[in-house]
Amino acid sequence: MHIPICDPKQEYLELKREIDAAIHGVLESGQYILGPNVSCFEEEMAAYLGCQYAVGVNSGTDAMHLALRALGIGPGDEVITTPFTFIATTEAIEITGATPVFADIDPHTFNIDPNRVEDAITSHTRAILPVHLYGQPCEMDAIMDLANRHDLRVVEDCAQAIGATYCGKRVGTFGDVGCFSFFPSKNLGCIGDGGLTVTDDSVVQSRLEMLRRHGARVKYHHSELGLNSRLDEVQAALLRVKLPRLDAWNEKRRERAILYNDLLADLDEIKCPSERNWHETEYASVRANNKIAPVYHQYTVLLQNRASAAQHLVERGIGNAVYYPVPLHLQEVNAQLGFREGSFPHSEYASRHCLSLPMSPNLTRSQQEEVHAALRQALADSPHPRLISA
Ligand SMILES: *Cc1c(COP(=O)(O)O)cnc(C)c1O
Repeated sequence: MHIPICDPKQEYLELKREIDAAIHGVLESGQYILGPNVSCFEEEMAAYLGCQYAVGVNSGTDAMHLALRALGIGPGDEVITTPFTFIATTEAIEITGATPVFADIDPHTFNIDPNRVEDAITSHTRAILPVHLYGQPCEMDAIMDLANRHDLRVVEDCAQAIGATYCGKRVGTFGDVGCFSFFPSKNLGCIGDGGLTVTDDSVVQSRLEMLRRHGARVKYHHSELGLNSRLDEVQAALLRVKLPRLDAWNEKRRERAILYNDLLADLDEIKCPSERNWHETEYASVRANNKIAPVYHQYTVLLQNRASAAQHLVERGIGNAVYYPVPLHLQEVNAQLGFREGSFPHSEYASRHCLSLPMSPNLTRSQQEEVHAALRQALADSPHPRLISA
């Protein structure tokens, strides 16, 4: 692909000397697990996000699983989440023994609809697990209000939204625990698997630390069933080099998203991601007035005839992807939950019509113009009906 959908290697090349030195430093130190880089990175992340504690773990999936376990969620409990996300979200719930309960998305944001969350609450509900999909923050005011009224815990899946803000506060700091992934393609990516949990509650923090190292508070004294899930020193050292660049990279993603919105505005058949509360298109004024600042992990559009658009993009060497083609309530692994086609129409509609376009801090204007030209050609070659929403 001459325009890749994402470009993690570019970030390495940009910072090669510093990253090579940081990794070399770990190799020379002989301390490879839970050493100084992990504890410094945890402090730096807590400061960056604006919360008390951060605990490094070995993936975003484990971050959510351990967060739920640390909050005491398990068999017999229900956790409300979105059907339109990556499988890790329900894996984390089901591995604790709890049952995922779905609430459909708001079709304009792709995120869980708080009104539908309220309808899904039962006497077994213990927690809500909102996912800030594509880097777009969920309606956290409404979700936290529901959680407070019904005495529910909140675990945020921030795997795609590191650095995004809602009313000036970073996502991950609203609920009881925020969960992050450093999978290489994420906005802050490492060179393997890595994850992080954050919290303001010291009891939850110490439970997370205990669970990530075999359920032991004191070495070789295991009080609870834990697992081996630690962020390692090499990943932490590299992440410490990248973290100071994250805000600038996220701003570049947002500038590129706004340019896509402008370029694609003449293609009526394509629905661009909407930024609620932002009516200006000029970047600086948008920033001054925003209530919600997404970080565009993905730039995802909706269009009726996705297959032909994707084919035109591929023919021109332009990367694209469908995140995600099958909503979680229709996944084979979740068949026992008993849902069928039609259970969550907005999620099903998004799964059939979403298409993610190339997005990275280094995408150039001419590359974005090429994407626009390819989509315009696709629409001209096989005229699409306009999008009919679910
Ligand atoms: C990437 C991702 C995860 C899982 O993170 P891993 O580090 O790969 O385990 C979870 N949820 C969402 C929405 C993701 O995009």
